[in-house]
Amino acid sequence: MTAVATDAVMDYDEAMAKFDPVMGLEVHVELHTATKMFCGCPTGFGAEPNSQVCPVCLGLPGALPVVNEKAVESAMRIGLALNCEIAEWCRFARKNYFYPDMPKNFQTSQYDEPIAYGGYLDVELEDGSIYRVEIERAHMEEDTGKSLHIGGATGRIHGADHSLVDYNRAGIPLIEIVTKPMVGAGERAPEVAKAYVSALRDLLRALDVSDVKMEQGSMRCDANVSLRPKVGDPLSSEQLAVPLGTRTETKNVNSLRSVERAVRYEISRHAAILDAGGSVLQETRHWHEDTGITTSGRVKSDAEDYRYFPEPDLVPVAPTREMVEALRATLPEPPGQRRKRLQSDWGYSDLEMRDVMNAGAVELIEETVAAGASAGAAKKWWLGEPSRRANAEGQDIVTYAAALGFTPAHVAELDALVTSGRLNDSMARQVLDGVLAGEGTPTAVADARGLELVKDDGALEAAVDKVIETNPDVAAKIRDGKVQAAGALIGQVMKEMKGQADAGKARELILAKLQ
Ligand code: ADP
Ligand code: MG
Ligand code: ZN
Repeated sequence: MTAVATDAVMDYDEAMAKFDPVMGLEVHVELHTATKMFCGCPTGFGAEPNSQVCPVCLGLPGALPVVNEKAVESAMRIGLALNCEIAEWCRFARKNYFYPDMPKNFQTSQYDEPIAYGGYLDVELEDGSIYRVEIERAHMEEDTGKSLHIGGATGRIHGADHSLVDYNRAGIPLIEIVTKPMVGAGERAPEVAKAYVSALRDLLRALDVSDVKMEQGSMRCDANVSLRPKVGDPLSSEQLAVPLGTRTETKNVNSLRSVERAVRYEISRHAAILDAGGSVLQETRHWHEDTGITTSGRVKSDAEDYRYFPEPDLVPVAPTREMVEALRATLPEPPGQRRKRLQSDWGYSDLEMRDVMNAGAVELIEETVAAGASAGAAKKWWLGEPSRRANAEGQDIVTYAAALGFTPAHVAELDALVTSGRLNDSMARQVLDGVLAGEGTPTAVADARGLELVKDDGALEAAVDKVIETNPDVAAKIRDGKVQAAGALIGQVMKEMKGQADAGKARELILAKLQ
């Protein structure tokens, strides 16, 4: 592996004292349509290489593309959800360049006539404040194929002895969402970048237009960063009047955490260059997840000439206003609003809601409550043992539970066994263990394991009498008014009853007998 000289970086706080950061994020989203953008090939992930191709997506001579209607609808729904205008008339364009993973030698994209433009997305930050991200445009294009470089240590082309190309991905519909330069974030720029990508991902998931899996590449982010001298508060008019600095574009930053780290790193790197009197080179950069740094990619000027021209083989897209309004009516409740509504319905504190969100259990809890459980019980059961085990397996709770066949209905049933008085808490935990071990439904597990609180007060009373008799000293204390001593006796009564008693009832009986 060739050694890469590490760039100088400035301490982040020092950089923030001297410079004002500006960001621009370009997010590519693969739509999960059944077929590709301009042909009928399937789009499934992970298929045998070059098994999902045809003359159109291979760019063979004479093949003619046809636009995927569903993809155009998804593009418009994304635009509408981002508060964009939808073009009355727009065309595709050819973006000409040569690369082995692009068989046509041009990418069918959109250039100066995007389907959606001029929107915004309000993003909630950790402290609850809102940052409005202005959206420049969202346009339609197609994905390229994938190159695999064999023989090198790094998987990159340098040092490889041969390369393989898989065209299955070529022609999958992509939407590129481009922000305007994001100003005024100040030292929170990295947090804002991460919060934006996260909010966008939630929105796209709610729209059900993409798998939005950053780790599989169905959502990819390029982060543009520049610095300008700091002359005042981030939002002051003096600061906003300072011209933008030269940007770098860090490509394919493929996790939320990386978005934050890459922006932060580039800020520190630019600051070191500018502070030393140098100038930033406008270029693309590669992000290295392992070392947390970026390295130089290719120099890129604004005037880069792709010789764009309107695609002659496709008709323009001209959605009627009725179509646009019909699609607007299909938009889901915005994720931020939905989160607030659920939190208030469920009576969770901010912290509780955050725990549930971090655990990815919002939908599970929603379904569990719909199946009859209280919101408190639903949270308690999902965030307990099932979450712990999912974590230990390195899985998210939804995937983990689905694989086990453990459902919201099971949790609601378990909760009902507790509220009806059949099980106490510790018995319910044993039942949960059984359900997670695949022993059946909660009721079936409770039946099979003979778990049932003893309702018969006679048996409980006998146990209480016995415990009082064998612990005269404790009993005397309680008689003298030391009520807290009852705890010791309750423990023994529960032991006598092999855990199958109601601790509250045992306490009542003990106190009734000794006071
Ligand atoms: P490119 O073709 O170079 O990728 P795009 O227009 O697709 O250009 O995207 C450029 C992105 O960079 C946009 O999000 C834009 O807001 C952002 N941007 C432009 N100038 C600057 C700058 N000086 N500093 C930070 N971001 C910038
Ligand atoms: Mg771009
Ligand atoms: Zn095809």
